[in-house]
Amino acid sequence: MIINFWGNLKELLRPQFRGLNRIEYELRREASVKDIVEALGVPHTEVGRLTVDGRDISFSSIGSNNDRMDVYPLCPPVDVLTATLLRPEPLPGITFAVDVNVGKLATLLRMAGFDTFYRNGISDPELIEVAVREQRILLSKDTDLLKRKAVVFGYLVREIHPEKQLAEVVRLFGIQGQFKPLSRCLRCNGLLRAVEKEHVIDQLEPLTKKYYDSFRQCRRCNNIYWPGSHRDKMLALLARYGECQDIA
Ligand SMILES: [Zn+2]
Repeated sequence: MIINFWGNLKELLRPQFRGLNRIEYELRREASVKDIVEALGVPHTEVGRLTVDGRDISFSSIGSNNDRMDVYPLCPPVDVLTATLLRPEPLPGITFAVDVNVGKLATLLRMAGFDTFYRNGISDPELIEVAVREQRILLSKDTDLLKRKAVVFGYLVREIHPEKQLAEVVRLFGIQGQFKPLSRCLRCNGLLRAVEKEHVIDQLEPLTKKYYDSFRQCRRCNNIYWPGSHRDKMLALLARYGECQDIA
C-alpha cells in the first residue's frame, strides 16, 4: 500500500523512513491500520485523521495493498470531549496523567490548576491503568508507551524545556482560557481551600506567621500555601502561556 504521512508525523517514522512523505509498504499479513502506522514508528495517539482514497477510516480498519492511505497529525485545538471516528468514546473532561520523563510538566499543569496525576517511580503498566481508569490524557516522551492499545488519549511531548512543554500541551488542547492558578496542590494534585490563619498557625514558620495572613490548604495532604514571592513568579509564568482570569 501507499502511505502518506503528513506534517510532524514524518519526524516520528522509523529511521529508514524518517522525513519521507510517501512510503510504499507491502503487507504480508492481515493487519489493522493502527498496527501498520505503529510498525512504521508513529504512535496512534499522534494521529488526528486517517483516510483511504479520501474516505475517513477508523484504527481497526484492515489495510490492503491496493490502498492509498493518508495519515494526518493532531490538529490544534484537539477536542477530546467530542466523539470522532478514531476515538468514538470521548473524555468527560480535560485531565492528565503525566509520565516520569516529563515530571516538571506535571507541576506546571497543577500550577495552572489542571487535574494532573503524577507519581514518581510509577511503572508503565500502572501509569496506563490510571490513565485509562480515570479517563486522563497520557503525556509522555516514550513512543512505545503511547503505542499501547489500552491508551486512547495521549500525546508525545516534543519540547524539552518544561515551560515550552506546558505551552505545547496548552496550545494542542486549546486550554489557554481554562487556567485556574493556585487552585491545586503542587505536591499531591488535591484542591486547595482557604483556611483561617488561626487554624494553621501552629504549623507555620516564625517569619511566615509574622508576614502573611492569607492561607490556603490542600484538602488532601494538608500542605499549606501562602502568597509568598513564588506566587508572583508562578503567576507571571502562567500569564505567558494562558489567561489567568480565575486567580484563587
Ligand atoms: Zn496536597
